[in-house]
Amino acid sequence: MIHITCLNKFFGQHHVLKNIDLTIEQGKVFVIIGPSGSGKSTLLRCINYLETYSDGEITIDGKPMGRKLIKGQSVEIPASELNQARQDVGMVFQSFNLFPHKTVLQNITMAPQSLKGMSAAEAEALAMQLLKKVGLEEKAHVLPYNLSGGQKQRVAIARALAMQPKVMLFDEPTSALDPEMVGEVLQVMKQLAKEGMTMVIVTHEMRFAKDAADQVLVLDNGIIIERDKPDKIFVNPTHPRTKEFLSKVL
Ligand code: ADP
Ligand code: MG
Repeated sequence: MIHITCLNKFFGQHHVLKNIDLTIEQGKVFVIIGPSGSGKSTLLRCINYLETYSDGEITIDGKPMGRKLIKGQSVEIPASELNQARQDVGMVFQSFNLFPHKTVLQNITMAPQSLKGMSAAEAEALAMQLLKKVGLEEKAHVLPYNLSGGQKQRVAIARALAMQPKVMLFDEPTSALDPEMVGEVLQVMKQLAKEGMTMVIVTHEMRFAKDAADQVLVLDNGIIIERDKPDKIFVNPTHPRTKEFLSKVL
């Protein structure tokens, strides 16, 4: 579903992602862990070309996302093609980024109407179905400031799902939440995983990673130093840097 080939990303002179090659199969849950500054957010943002990169190729379900390799050369794709491809990718951030002056329902129905040409009725029906999925049907007509952090994040997930993406990316979705609200968001994510969504998740919730991940990927200094099943990574990591990192967070 996601294919990353020879991805290199620089911020000025700083080589932030180094020759990343990665394939993520449909329906799999990948959790990315690693020290702060190792490039986790940048990698996630490159997947939908929110962050441009200079070298390599990323495809989602076969469609290039930002750049494609032509005879070994990485070439940027046209904006129209990028915008089309981006519709297949939902992203959820640490900060929920809901539109404050729109109701919960409007937050969810806007993009499907403007980008997918859904009718208002269709978009609303879909939004209500998604609100039910995240347990917030009764909040459809309130403004975001009436919601707790956990509820806002569940709305943000519903909003991303409203575009009917093939892939969902999560960048520390629970890091801004009070501890008692972390569980409700992780629960929604587990449900999504169970339904077969392809997910890439940056998180510090190691329990969640153990329970929900098909694969855990350890990023260190822009390099994937280890990639394996959670049982292996958490119980018997091979790389000394993984051991060091886990000793600090577990
Ligand atoms: P992580 O999410 O693992 O904490 P990031 O992907 O945010 O790491 O950052 C990786 C590296 O890139 C860090 O050294 C960070 O300082 C640098 N970086 C991130 N964003 C920018 C930016 N917009 N401009 C310059 N450097 C950046
Ligand atoms: Mg980050």
